[in-house]
Amino acid sequence: MNHTMTTGLNGESLQALAVQHGVPYLDVALIAANSEGARPLQGYPRARMQLRPNGSSETWQIILPFDNAQSPFEVIDGSLQLAGESIADVVALENDDVVLTYLRAGGRSITLNTHSRSKCTGCLFCPNVIEDAADETLATADQLSEVLEWLMADNGWPDLGHAEVITVCSGCFHYPGMAIDHMAALRIAADRYGFTGRLHLLSSVLRDRDDLERLREKCGPFHLTLTMECFERRSLLLKDTKASLTLERAGEILEDCRDLDIIGDFTYVAGLDSLETAVNGIAHLAPRVGTFPRIQVFQAHNDYMRRARHREAEDLNYYLDLRSALETVFAPTGLAPRSWENYRPLWYSEFAGSPVPGPRV
Ligand code: SF4
Repeated sequence: MNHTMTTGLNGESLQALAVQHGVPYLDVALIAANSEGARPLQGYPRARMQLRPNGSSETWQIILPFDNAQSPFEVIDGSLQLAGESIADVVALENDDVVLTYLRAGGRSITLNTHSRSKCTGCLFCPNVIEDAADETLATADQLSEVLEWLMADNGWPDLGHAEVITVCSGCFHYPGMAIDHMAALRIAADRYGFTGRLHLLSSVLRDRDDLERLREKCGPFHLTLTMECFERRSLLLKDTKASLTLERAGEILEDCRDLDIIGDFTYVAGLDSLETAVNGIAHLAPRVGTFPRIQVFQAHNDYMRRARHREAEDLNYYLDLRSALETVFAPTGLAPRSWENYRPLWYSEFAGSPVPGPRV
């Protein structure tokens, strides 16, 4: 069975979809590129790229798998091509290894991978298994301070006073206590360098109100992103510590977060559930979040992972229908996506008819 949607994808067919759905061409093209991946390149399993799409003066960061020999997308001669036609200049491209730190929004947002995300396995679609690792496990405030000092020196920052958020993206703490201790140590370390912003953790092990209270108490201003990912086939697609979180429980946790003045939201992978399940699940959580959730287009890194994609999502209309339905779902919340928070969203340049704010990198 063919699990790709590539047949017939070209500039003309994407333009037709853009018109039919009333969506900018840029958004349709980048959703298609994320969903399809690109043809193999230099042995990279996956690459971070900065692109300047034709007709745009902005540079966009995207991360694509380079595994799909059937893909209509290909990087050749410094450009991203769709069915042999250039659609964007490639301004920069590098292998996407699992790094220890990276920056977004010009350094206002710092992401740390201080708990060996590269060693975490169990989610069927996770790229860890195919990426090179350059991360490690750091436990104490002193070890975390060393990373922050290195980061400041590397970027010429006198301190961390400018930073708004420090995110830990290692979703691999086995117990709530491990996650709380790690984030508390990070708060101590970051305090030493004048950081007054919010700490942010992606996790699904923090569920009980007691744990959330401890988190708030020991870690200061906090943002918790529940790694929900999908609503159907959870035990098949996700590692056990994530799969056991139900939609109803996630809703309760988000309510507790709101009570405790913790910003709560969730990650969701668009393309794993039926359209109806996706819309209903997200509609259940939407009134309970404190910021727009991280909804990412499903990326497959090999043919095996491609089988995880829901049948309905083999057609690009799925993503465009979901995009439109979710604009309606989130309308009463007043929340909207921001570019630097998500490099494979359903919304690149426009959300519900309004521009998505940058920066794009
Ligand atoms: S929790 Fe799942 S998606 Fe996250 S790093 Fe571990 S295996 Fe990968």
